Amino acid sequence: MSSDFLCENTRKHLAENFVYFYLKSRHFFLIPKSKSNQLCELVKEIVLKFADDYFLLFEQFLKEECPSIVNSYNSYKNKLNLQEMIDLSLEHLLSNKKIFEILQNKFNFVEPIEIIDEESKLKILYIPIKETLSSIIKNETLLKYIIINSYLNATNKENFFFKSTYFEEHISPLLTNKNGIFIKLYSDEIEICNPIGSAKTKHKLCVVYFTILNFPEYLSSSSDLYFLLTVFNDSNVKKKGLQFCLFPLIRELNELYFEEFQISNLIKMPVIAAFMTGDNLSIHRMLGMQTWFSSGYICRFCFIGYKQLCSIRLEELSTLFLFEYRDNSSYIEDFKSLSNGLISPSVFRSVAYINFQYFSPLI
Ligand SMILES: [Zn+2]
Repeated sequence: MSSDFLCENTRKHLAENFVYFYLKSRHFFLIPKSKSNQLCELVKEIVLKFADDYFLLFEQFLKEECPSIVNSYNSYKNKLNLQEMIDLSLEHLLSNKKIFEILQNKFNFVEPIEIIDEESKLKILYIPIKETLSSIIKNETLLKYIIINSYLNATNKENFFFKSTYFEEHISPLLTNKNGIFIKLYSDEIEICNPIGSAKTKHKLCVVYFTILNFPEYLSSSSDLYFLLTVFNDSNVKKKGLQFCLFPLIRELNELYFEEFQISNLIKMPVIAAFMTGDNLSIHRMLGMQTWFSSGYICRFCFIGYKQLCSIRLEELSTLFLFEYRDNSSYIEDFKSLSNGLISPSVFRSVAYINFQYFSPLI
């Protein structure tokens, strides 16, 4: 029985190639001519059988793995040659769509959305929090943690975050139903080439991740449970501003707070970005603050200037705590006037509930 997919010409072509190979080897191994024709026939027979078996397996594989190919190319049966078949299946199997399909089914992967600015053609990749959460809650253990650790009853205070005064004073009042999914954002810049080489900064990327604070600490600190949110070229920030780079995140944070995340038919919870961490450079940029630290306002917590800080003598260290500290309203004021170290209004000012005094704590 020969495979439907195997075109007669392809079989012939394969057999001829093997015979050619055999003739070459016959020459090499000095096989007498009298045996030659007999051996040629034998080789042909073996090759054709092998080809039939191989193509039957191949066809079966296609039917199981990518029925769309089998269906859409049904009419071409017996017309495709070997190379076309290989090209066709590779094209399908190696397409981004197929790869994500496999990753999605087998590993609960969430496909990133590519956002391109029409005018500048700059690109950002964004992985919706909603999709990631939907994928996370497929895991029953993680789902259990989210649900149990979202109800703020007295018995549920082992979680360090829930015990904090910050949670009590600033996050808890945001909840209408005493439950929620709390996330921590983390941003950093990475160089995918030698940072002291000639291509320095050329391939620099900015990435934002999130973790879920409802999980017990041993889980939320595991790198397996750090979820990628967005990736963009660092130069996009200079060209188009963080406003463009983070707009999908800001929009989704507002949506997930006001419209909430549907866990099941009965359970719905708001998602709240409780705070954001990162190095000074990254966080200052997120806050809209100056990103140089050798002059001007170098601290996001207080109004101390670089010069003033340098002139403090050791015996005056205790005065450090007497400085005037920034708070949410001073941040809002400084966004308007772009003063006191603020060089642009933070993109996070558009997230309805963020309190800038606590949003980026010292970790
Ligand atoms: Zn300070």
